[in-house]
Amino acid sequence: MSNAIYPGSFDPITNGHIDIISRASKLYEKLYIAVSKDNFLKSTLFSVDERIELIKMSVEAMPNVEIIDFDCLVVDLSRKLNCNVIIRGLRALSDYDFEFKMALMNRSLDENIVTLFMMPHERYTHISSSLIREVASHGGDISQYVSTFVNKALGKAFEE
Ligand code: ADP
Repeated sequence: MSNAIYPGSFDPITNGHIDIISRASKLYEKLYIAVSKDNFLKSTLFSVDERIELIKMSVEAMPNVEIIDFDCLVVDLSRKLNCNVIIRGLRALSDYDFEFKMALMNRSLDENIVTLFMMPHERYTHISSSLIREVASHGGDISQYVSTFVNKALGKAFEE
């Protein structure tokens, strides 16, 4: 068995991410969740430390999952961690265009690293962190899509 890496911004982690993490962690000896550091290109609601904390609480029951932050190329990080698989989630067709380009770019950067796409439970195929943030910012009920601690953190982030 080899190691795999699941990169993203996880702003914040949703049940869709957790679904993918749980599936992937059963396939690999070790699964690294790589959380992008705060950067000027993509602003986030939660800081990298907050995002990591929320992920930590979600994966406590999965002993072969490790969380790290990063601000380099995913292929460089993968090599460093001895991972030859990059996990990405595929929801609707709308993910395809971006993910297709990213997977081919990563392959051209390192032929030995494979991108593996996984589908979450259909209950989560229509959600993204950004949609969750938007609904939560207007006080909508997102409790079926995030854990209680993420729900609480969102409530706090948007309270006035
Ligand atoms: P990024 O900014 O790199 O897209 P995200 O945190 O939004 O980071 O997503 C990380 C990965 O998780 C991506 O592959 C994305 O497609 C996947 N993902 C996000 N939401 C879901 C979901 N509801 N179900 C399955 N995969 C998802």
